[in-house]
Amino acid sequence: MRLHEYQSKEFFSNFHIPIPRGRLASTPEEAKLIAEELNGPVVLKAQVLVGGRGKSGGIRLVKSPEEAKDEASKILGERIKDIPVRRLLVEEAVNIQQEIYFGMTIDRKKGETLVIASAEGGVDIEEVARLSPEKIFKESINPLLGLRDFQSRKLATDIEIPRDLWRSFITLARNLYSVYCQLDTTLVEINPLVITTGKRLMALDGKIIIDDNALFRHPELLDKRDTSIEAPQESEARKFCLSYIKLNGNIGCLVNGAGLAMATMDIIKHNGGQPANFLDIGGGANSEKVAAALRIMLSDPQVKTILINIFGGITRCDEVAMGIRQTLSEIETNIPFIIRLVGTNETEGKRILADANLLTADTLHEAAAKAVALSKESR
Ligand code: GDP
Ligand code: MN
Repeated sequence: MRLHEYQSKEFFSNFHIPIPRGRLASTPEEAKLIAEELNGPVVLKAQVLVGGRGKSGGIRLVKSPEEAKDEASKILGERIKDIPVRRLLVEEAVNIQQEIYFGMTIDRKKGETLVIASAEGGVDIEEVARLSPEKIFKESINPLLGLRDFQSRKLATDIEIPRDLWRSFITLARNLYSVYCQLDTTLVEINPLVITTGKRLMALDGKIIIDDNALFRHPELLDKRDTSIEAPQESEARKFCLSYIKLNGNIGCLVNGAGLAMATMDIIKHNGGQPANFLDIGGGANSEKVAAALRIMLSDPQVKTILINIFGGITRCDEVAMGIRQTLSEIETNIPFIIRLVGTNETEGKRILADANLLTADTLHEAAAKAVALSKESR
């Protein structure tokens, strides 16, 4: 789950990382009011979850409250990379001497946290990494030891932070690491972290990604999710606790268990087809959940065939079959279903499907081959 800049900055501030003064506005009048309060030049920043807002016109520097109002009325109607701008962060403009990149993320290979710093901040860090990788410095954090001050000092030397700012940089690094750990993030990033002309460090931008699998530990974060950037099917799936990821193919897959879902996708590909999604209904799903999963898949116009692959353990095949029957009685569709059920209550399940004239398969290979053939038939 990705947080907006203003949300990230709230956390930064709670963890004593300096940020510019400012507030959120959703109307031009509010933007004007905030600019009056801040009493000086301000920056209007579109709160949309896309990278490179600066380059796409989402960051505007203005000199007066009147100008803030005018510019706000323009940006608030616009779209940035196709996402409508509904809110602006109005902040005091900061005089920048240098822009630094500073972030922390997971190094999956090492199983450690990587702290990344570069003196070439502000711009696209991926570009810096591609064109001049020697300008990016990294420190690996052992999760048992945490970030040590000597590591931050080393980074400060690497990116040539003036010596009189070392102490603030080390404190800031420590605080950012606390944000990183306490919120269970997979990424915290300050780009740019600036040195102001007044010789202070300040987080001018903020990006936090929370590990979705840790969200149960953070009920306070649940209402912070912005669903405007995800496929509507993904938000719907979350309501029913289904793991759903939309893909580009045309064969909808409904499977119980992530491992089986991966295997099912592999076998579809092996047979020359393309999965339209990854969907794990989890263990012990009841007919309601199966019906919800099918409704979600049927709402995706790219789906031309549906392959259901259930290995009944805790999940009961008859429950799944009832869910399928229920969906088909509610929604009229000419999308073909191929169903393979094995395991607990298989016989009952198959009887329900046979009564409903549904196409079944005995093995996964057979099911995948049929699904792929059907997906190619139906335009
Ligand atoms: P991003 O493009 O979405 O990453 O948005 P940022 O918040 O990082 O802003 C992009 C760029 O706008 C920064 O790198 C700065 O160069 C500039 N910028 C943002 N805020 C200010 C400010 O208060 N003063 C000045 N002078 N420039 C700013
Ligand atoms: Mn930025």
